[in-house]
Amino acid sequence: SSYHKVLEENRMLYNQVQDLKGTIRVYCRVRPFLQGHTNGQSTVDYIGENGNIMILNPLKQGKDARKVFSFNKVFGPTVSQEQIYEDTRPLIRSVLDGFNVCIFAYGQTGSGKTYTMSGPDLTTEQTWGVNYRALRDLFQISKERADVVKYEVGFTLTTNTLDIRNNSQLNGLNVPDASWVPVASTQDVLDLMRTGQKNRAVGATALNERSSRSHSILTIHVYGKELVSGSILKGCLHLVDLAGSERVDKSEAVGDRLKEAQHINKSLSALGDVISALAQKSAHIPYRNSKLTQVLQDSLGGQAKTLMFVHISPEVNSIGETISTLKFAERVASIELGAARSNK
Ligand code: ADP
Repeated sequence: SSYHKVLEENRMLYNQVQDLKGTIRVYCRVRPFLQGHTNGQSTVDYIGENGNIMILNPLKQGKDARKVFSFNKVFGPTVSQEQIYEDTRPLIRSVLDGFNVCIFAYGQTGSGKTYTMSGPDLTTEQTWGVNYRALRDLFQISKERADVVKYEVGFTLTTNTLDIRNNSQLNGLNVPDASWVPVASTQDVLDLMRTGQKNRAVGATALNERSSRSHSILTIHVYGKELVSGSILKGCLHLVDLAGSERVDKSEAVGDRLKEAQHINKSLSALGDVISALAQKSAHIPYRNSKLTQVLQDSLGGQAKTLMFVHISPEVNSIGETISTLKFAERVASIELGAARSNK
């Protein structure tokens, strides 16, 4: 029966998800050279099969010039959006079983964060990023399970001001939170994104039009009621396109731009502090030091599953940011969130 099919599917998913639990997975993605710069020298010397990437630093000599970094996976410049999503899908599906999942995009401006999360162009599904593919999957699976679980899906979009604090308690099928927008299809979401500018509930900035100096958090809330047992499932998926991680030159930024840069740097460094505290298994995790870490608190510890896509640009003039990005990412990859690590 379809009920048993779903139970079996859940059991298999549960096993897959157990593998992912308790760690922060880190995937590194290298973007290609942009059009017109295809002959440039690449700082990516070699991408190995087991999540290793070798960086060539042209500013260093001898054995200091090459450094290897290790992650769960490394995706080279020719890897498609579809392939990227294939390795993300098990996490997305687990949201429908009531897990909290958080997916970050980290890297300097221009390294491909928005490309991974949203894609360059919404008109062709082939280039859709993780956001839209995830939504499509969530709607499709919830339809497949319709005679077993009644699902409701809604989302909030939060930008750098982080003023829509949405931690709604989803009690009953009637979700009372005003900033929670119920959606029934990927098309609904696309329409909302397009009118996002006008729609206060979705935040002031449309997902694809944000500035590189702001964070954007798309939160998808899934609420399900099992028809036979009446039990309730609550899952949540945060898709986070972080502000560019580059250091802002203080002599260049003035006034509002400096204030904005300091604010963004503060929340990125607060994220770094939370990650360090988790890595050291500190008794106190400083979630409250920034709005960003507060919003993500339920997804950065304990039972949550977290994936960070770190992005690097291959150009020689990005080498400084590339190295600091990869060092930050290795620190993230070393974190155990309570449970024993099951891989690496
Ligand atoms: P970020 O969000 O990190 O500032 P973007 O996602 O806007 O960077 O990417 C910068 C530019 O590089 C864009 O023109 C984007 O289309 C292109 N780009 C990024 N990643 C890829 C990729 N994997 N394949 C092709 N083009 C890419």
